[in-house]
Amino acid sequence: MGLVVQKYGGSSVADAEGIKRVARRIVEAKKDGHQVVVVVSAMGDTTDELIDLAGEVSPIPSGREFDMLLTAGERISMALLAMAIKNLGHEAQSFTGSQAGVITDSVHNRARIIDVTPGRIKSSVDDGNIAIVAGFQGVSQEKKDITTLGRGGSDTTAVALAAALDAEVCEIYTDVDGVFTADPRTVTKARKIDRISYEDMLELASSGSKVLLHRCVEYARRYNIPIHVRSSFSGLPGTWVSNEPRGDQPMEQALISGVAHDTSEAKVTVVGVPDKPGEAAKIFRAISDAEINIDMVVQNVSAATTGLTDISFTLPKTDGKRAMTALERTKSTVGFDSLRYDDQIAKISLVGAGMKTNPGVTAAFFEALSGAGVNIELISTSEIRISVVTRDDDVNDAVRAVHSAFGLDSDSDEAVVYGGTGR
Ligand code: ASP
Ligand code: MG
Repeated sequence: MGLVVQKYGGSSVADAEGIKRVARRIVEAKKDGHQVVVVVSAMGDTTDELIDLAGEVSPIPSGREFDMLLTAGERISMALLAMAIKNLGHEAQSFTGSQAGVITDSVHNRARIIDVTPGRIKSSVDDGNIAIVAGFQGVSQEKKDITTLGRGGSDTTAVALAAALDAEVCEIYTDVDGVFTADPRTVTKARKIDRISYEDMLELASSGSKVLLHRCVEYARRYNIPIHVRSSFSGLPGTWVSNEPRGDQPMEQALISGVAHDTSEAKVTVVGVPDKPGEAAKIFRAISDAEINIDMVVQNVSAATTGLTDISFTLPKTDGKRAMTALERTKSTVGFDSLRYDDQIAKISLVGAGMKTNPGVTAAFFEALSGAGVNIELISTSEIRISVVTRDDDVNDAVRAVHSAFGLDSDSDEAVVYGGTGR
């Protein structure tokens, strides 16, 4: 039997009881004959609490010290987990990201992994230990400073280690039973997906599904690492993310994989832009120079009488201030009338490879929204996704209506949320 990488999220190790429960599960995998490498997140809401604490001592904490602080969260859980496993009579050793060979670039707070040299982890498991690795952290190649990979980065640590160690599977243990057809916190009739392709999972992740991060799925696709998302609370089989067929699960593609929603974005409208070549280029150059990623872009038809048009786009709320400042500076060169900023929006997306060949999907999606009395403000599509922007207080009604309209509701309330504060 091969090596497995298991990752446990913060809600699975929220307290001493949780740590002991996870330790028992890890020992089971070891007893089954696997070599086991575990990646662990900080306990419960520790990371958020450390962020709040940093904000109390400094409005703009230094990136280096911020990372040093946040990585302490995972150090606590890795050491406690190793102790709990030893207490069950099995050998375990904990390692920081740096000790585990997670090498990153030097961008504090959102570093990218550039290499993994897991020599120490390999020898530890070859010696019969269970290796516990602190998630979400690494060491920068250039400056040898401690870095973090961005919020939720432990999943990426797990997949990166699985790739470097040539693991059989990367198991991501969380507080729900897998990837659902909608967020089970919103839709109790959401259905668990048994298997999903990397592509559909990437679209769900970039449309706001929080169960797996985009970066982690991207990494898994690049190295062809199968991910098994499952609950550390129930022990039920979860969702396989991979492009290979598995066991008795058919490969054929579902028409629709799921409905995702996102309330973390805001909408900027540049009002009264002269309708001539080069204007949009100037606007989006300014946004890109400010290193802001935008999502949906819509330009209206210009009013014939004025020759002016409006351009709207969405972006993360956290980048809103910087975007507005950058756009203000282009006012004289672009010559627009005014700027509008709206952070009371939600994005709702329908994802599935089947929609490529099914022209009725778009109409049915809009009909479902109309049936729920939800007004659509922006629309964008890709080959396997349709997204709309609506008012944020319509989001729950909209998601539930679309979910039912596409026949995704399950007969039972199987979408159990076992833990976590949703923070
Ligand atoms: N503890 C970090 C966070 O809360 C990393 C993780 O949980 O994956 O973002
Ligand atoms: Mg966390």
